[in-house]
Amino acid sequence: MLKVLLVSALFASVASAREEKAHTHGGARLAIALEGKNGKIDFDAPASAIYGFEYVAKSAKDKKSKEQGLKKVEDKIAEMVVFDPSAKCEIKKDMYEVDQKENHADVEFEFRVICEKSPMGTNITVNISKIFPRIKAVKVDVVGDGVQKSLEVKNSGESIELK
Ligand SMILES: [Zn+2]
Repeated sequence: MLKVLLVSALFASVASAREEKAHTHGGARLAIALEGKNGKIDFDAPASAIYGFEYVAKSAKDKKSKEQGLKKVEDKIAEMVVFDPSAKCEIKKDMYEVDQKENHADVEFEFRVICEKSPMGTNITVNISKIFPRIKAVKVDVVGDGVQKSLEVKNSGESIELK
C-alpha cells in the first residue's frame, strides 16, 4: 500500500507539472516513476506530432489517421522507452486520452512497467523521435529508488543512467 501511495504521489506532482506546461508543437513530455521491479510511464505529446493534426477528426480519413497514431504509441512504447534487456521489463498501457481544445489537442498516455528484475543501475534509452519524427525534444523526468533526474532529450538514442 505504501508503495502504491508513493507512486501516486510522484504522479500527482507530474500531473500538476503537466497542467502548468505550455502546449509546444515538436515537444513532448515523458515521466518515468520506478520502484523496485515496477513503475509507471506517463507520455504527453501534442496531437500534431502523433497523428498529424489537432482539430476534431470528422472525416473517415482523419479518424483513421488519429486511430493509427494512437495505436502506434501503444504498439511502439517499448521502442520509444527502452529498458535494459537484463531487467526483462514489460510495458502495458493503462489508459490514454486526447485532451481536445478548440484548435489544439494533446495526447496523454499512462503505462505500467513490470520487470523481472529491478532496472535500477542500468540505462533507459529514449528513442521517441525515431518513432515520431515530428517530436524534436522530449522533457524527461525520472524518479524512484533514490534517483531523481530531469533532462531534455533532443536526439533519439540518448541514454539515462538509473543511478
Ligand atoms: Zn497545438
